[in-house]
Amino acid sequence: MDQYMSPQLENQLLPLPEQLPLDGECLPCFVHRMLNRECVGLKWTTAYRDARAPRATAIERKFAELGGHCDCEVIANVYRRTPEKWMLPTPHEVRATPSPACLRVRKGCIRPCALWVKREGVQWGRPHAKRAD
Ligand SMILES: [Zn+2]
Ligand SMILES: [Zn+2]
Repeated sequence: MDQYMSPQLENQLLPLPEQLPLDGECLPCFVHRMLNRECVGLKWTTAYRDARAPRATAIERKFAELGGHCDCEVIANVYRRTPEKWMLPTPHEVRATPSPACLRVRKGCIRPCALWVKREGVQWGRPHAKRAD
């Protein structure tokens, strides 16, 4: 039996430098940027956590309570785009880019920049309610 891990599996376990958040980049902007490639569970959400906010250890459970069971659900359900920020054309940007650049946050937290609002209505840190299917 071949016991070696495939190179693909190693890539999933060890993020490459270009798979890390930019300096000051917030969680939803990072996930949104990386999701141009693929959605594989909470891969990019947890990559951000490990790189920028390692103390947010309960992120998987908390995000699941907010409807974020995978990365694309995180930026659809846990964070929402601030509409006016995303609809305004940026004067100095001539390329046809679908997303504005992150407005930057401090390291160590999972707060979004002003491009996003975090979902309200579910209290963080409470025992989770009945899970909807
Ligand atoms: Zn997804
Ligand atoms: Zn951002």
